[in-house]
Amino acid sequence: MSKTAKIVILFVVVIAIGWGIGKYTSAPSASEEEGTVVSEGSALQGQPDASAEPSPVASVNPDEQDQGTSGNNMGAEGAPAATADPEENDSEDTAPNPTSVVTNKPGTQDSGNNAAELTAAEPESMSVMVNKQYKLPDKYKPSDLVYPNVRFLFSEKIEKRMMRRTAAGALEEMFAGAKKDGIQLAGVSAYRSEKTQTRLFNNYVDRDGEEKARTYSAVPGHSEHQTGLAIDISGSDGKCAAESCFAGTPEADWLASHAAEYGFIIRYPEGKQSITGYKYEPWHVRYVGKEIAASIAEKGITLEEYFDAVPVSN
Ligand SMILES: [Zn+2]
Repeated sequence: MSKTAKIVILFVVVIAIGWGIGKYTSAPSASEEEGTVVSEGSALQGQPDASAEPSPVASVNPDEQDQGTSGNNMGAEGAPAATADPEENDSEDTAPNPTSVVTNKPGTQDSGNNAAELTAAEPESMSVMVNKQYKLPDKYKPSDLVYPNVRFLFSEKIEKRMMRRTAAGALEEMFAGAKKDGIQLAGVSAYRSEKTQTRLFNNYVDRDGEEKARTYSAVPGHSEHQTGLAIDISGSDGKCAAESCFAGTPEADWLASHAAEYGFIIRYPEGKQSITGYKYEPWHVRYVGKEIAASIAEKGITLEEYFDAVPVSN
């Protein structure tokens, strides 16, 4: 009887394993197994989810990234093109046709093409170089313009009578030095705003055509007169003021010999048109400071050569 009972018990136990031992023996163990089962279930569910989530995300992201990068590439390609056009338009509007055309001829391809768009980095510098290649920043106006106390061919206190303070002081000394040598100088035209230069240049274009106008008048933004450091000078009688017949006069000879002592240079010397871009202008002097002026005068070079920045120009 006892054997039979054991067998029955064992049989029942074996069956109970299938059902769950807890239910057969006691309530607490049953709840623990359920708990275990539940936790296992959640763990199993969690694993598939976890594995499922990463893979979809990982697979999706690369696609999105590919699309994204391809989209960005297209956008980037489009953006430069969009910004490049305005720049080209600006350069066409402001100046550069002559510069680019001129500089392209002699053969410095890159510098020639870029030349049209170069802007003086330090417009306030006493040695700033402004020419057909380098322009002043748009609407640049010196901050220290004053009226030099020297004779001008006119009496009005107007724009073209002004120069930057340092240059004005040097001009007063130079006029006084000339007077001691019996030379009576007079100012013709000094500072010129971009607005005035624009008006002048447009008038010249109307009269002579743009191509010819560019040979004797600076494109707005490219005039040295806008720096407030340059001035056209004549004799006090005003004869040949800013005209080629000023060459060879006592006043022109005195300037050529003594301007550097006061920090000025003859900015457009004779025979240097291929470098400066302008014909000989014995009346146009430019303040650069005594040190640079002395070096340029001694070597017989131009400002472009001094800075080793000779552009290719007409
Ligand atoms: Zn001038």
